[in-house]
Amino acid sequence: MKKVYSSDNTIMAGHVHSLLEANEIDCHLRNMNISGGIGELPINECWPEVWVNDESDYAFAKQLIENVLANADKQEDWQCQCNELIEGQFDVCWSCGNERDH
Ligand SMILES: [Zn+2]
Repeated sequence: MKKVYSSDNTIMAGHVHSLLEANEIDCHLRNMNISGGIGELPINECWPEVWVNDESDYAFAKQLIENVLANADKQEDWQCQCNELIEGQFDVCWSCGNERDH
C-alpha cells in the first residue's frame, strides 16, 4: 500500500478517492472521521489520506490527482441538485453521483 494524497479537506480527499475508483484503481481512505469543531484545525498527521492498495497503481493515481489539482483553479464550483457544492474540476457529485448538467 502507498499513500498518494492527503489534505486537510475531507471533501477533497473524498473526491480524489472517487476519482481513483472511477479509474478502477484499488484504493481506500484513512482518517476520514475527524471530529474537530469549526475553527479547529486537525494536526497534520490526522489529515484525511488516500492510499492505493497496489503500489503498481501509484504512478497512474498520482498523475490523475495532479491533473485534477492542476485544473482546480480553472473551473467554478457548481451546486448539485442535492444542494451539495461541488468543486469545479469535478463533473460528478461525490454525494449523490449526479452529473453536472451545465
Ligand atoms: Zn448531488
